[in-house]
Amino acid sequence: MIRQQPRRSLEGRGKRAGTVAGGRKSRQSKMSSVPDGKKLVRSPSGLRMVPENGAFNSPFSLDEPQWVPDKECPRCMQCDTKFDFIRRKHHCRRCGRCFCDKCCSKKVALPRMCFVDPVRQCAECGLVSQKEMEFYDKQLKVLLAGGTFIVTLGTSEKSETMTCRLSNNHRYLFLDGESHFEVELSRMSSMQILTDGTSPGENDIHTYTSLLDSHCISEGGTSRASGMLLHYKPMGSQDVQQLRMEAADDKKVASLWLAAMHKAAKLLYEARDQ
Ligand SMILES: [Zn+2]
Ligand SMILES: [Zn+2]
Repeated sequence: MIRQQPRRSLEGRGKRAGTVAGGRKSRQSKMSSVPDGKKLVRSPSGLRMVPENGAFNSPFSLDEPQWVPDKECPRCMQCDTKFDFIRRKHHCRRCGRCFCDKCCSKKVALPRMCFVDPVRQCAECGLVSQKEMEFYDKQLKVLLAGGTFIVTLGTSEKSETMTCRLSNNHRYLFLDGESHFEVELSRMSSMQILTDGTSPGENDIHTYTSLLDSHCISEGGTSRASGMLLHYKPMGSQDVQQLRMEAADDKKVASLWLAAMHKAAKLLYEARDQ
């Protein structure tokens, strides 16, 4: 299908359009409201289920890209096929670039853009989206279920056993023990995963100074996550607070939770970088 509507041009072709949210609003019209504070909107790319209030967007969510204007792509951006009346162009819903049917035929689920149904994506984006589905199918459930940790705030001597879980809207870590507190994911500045070596006495600590530099702990092979060190700014404060969490009794569940949290941090950084 060829899109005929005129589109706003971008600073650069094919560039992700995270900064042009103003242009996006006009493309969506409210269709219906549902009880859980979400609404169905229609974008040229398909139906999306988004929070009523944009301030409650999941921190993992990505903005829809601005499509490369039709007049700027006479040929498929993958195989260079020239478009004509027979060979029509399609836009990848994830990157917004232009492709022939052969190079952009796959429909893949794209929960990070809140699409209700699988949407057309180029081969490259389709692979990324498929990998992300693993996060949505597995790790996200682990994070919502929670784990038990020994939690130390700042440099305090005192620690407390708490359950830690991701809130249903994915925006907070809820920590519950005798006290309760919350860490807003968008106010996290760094995360370090602490790991134990498998052989006794071997105790290697992986320290990541920034979420961007982090790599998946499962790649480490012999080590398993045993704790996490977080730096974040509490609500209404500009001072960075430290939070240390160490696996409590059920180390297996805690380790899975930490691995899932690490994956979440990578998606979070991508979303912020957009
Ligand atoms: Zn092509
Ligand atoms: Zn793409």
